[in-house]
Amino acid sequence: TRRPVVAGNWKMNGLAASVSELKGIMAGAKAVSGKAELLVCPPATLVASFAKTAKGSTVHIGGQTCYSEASGAFTGEISAEMLADAGATHVIVGHSERRTIFKEKDADVQKKALAARRAGLISIVCVGETKEQREADRATIIVGQQLTGSLPEGAKAANLIVAYEPVWAIGTGLTPTPADIAEMHNFIRERLAARFKAEGEEVRILYGGSVKASNAAELMAVRNVDGALVGGASLKADDFLGIANVYA
Ligand code: 13P
Repeated sequence: TRRPVVAGNWKMNGLAASVSELKGIMAGAKAVSGKAELLVCPPATLVASFAKTAKGSTVHIGGQTCYSEASGAFTGEISAEMLADAGATHVIVGHSERRTIFKEKDADVQKKALAARRAGLISIVCVGETKEQREADRATIIVGQQLTGSLPEGAKAANLIVAYEPVWAIGTGLTPTPADIAEMHNFIRERLAARFKAEGEEVRILYGGSVKASNAAELMAVRNVDGALVGGASLKADDFLGIANVYA
């Protein structure tokens, strides 16, 4: 009994006025409450105000990354403790954009996931292969390596969510076939169960990459797909709710 999660990753988008979209999501959230969990991850500048706005609602607020240390001389960084203090309950770590543009390695991602747990946050650890890696039939090998290196020891379903986001599907309008998603999510499930035993069976595995209202039903119906991590289609309340309503 894994409750699905529909999470919006706003990436570097959103200003104070975007609270209107959050309010739209909160208004529509009632249709799925008790059936799926909704999460909005705005840029760090909006976490505190969004958490205040969403307080008492069924919409959770999360960060998009964090630093591994709790505090100190790390100019520009934000700790998991700070996100928790601002009202966040979740944090995305190891998104492919962090891995590619900001050169985060599996070991960095693992430290961030541990920091999230230390601060009482649920981490959403992202993994996924590039187009070249898939074409070379190395997708599961790559994802397996990322899981081994990025997931923290002793993770529990209450503090870990995994997101499979094939890099070539992010922002491209392309998605793997349901069969390819099933194969990868089954592989991830096996790895989680091997490493975390019974807890691994309960960890939610989200699919991310060009999820939209028109393909959500098909993608979310795949075995071992426990929800979605949504980029572009999470910025507008109507688009995001169109996806979440798959679980209504
Ligand atoms: P898109 O939904 O825009 O493809 O982005 C997916 C993503 O990167 C979510 O983290």
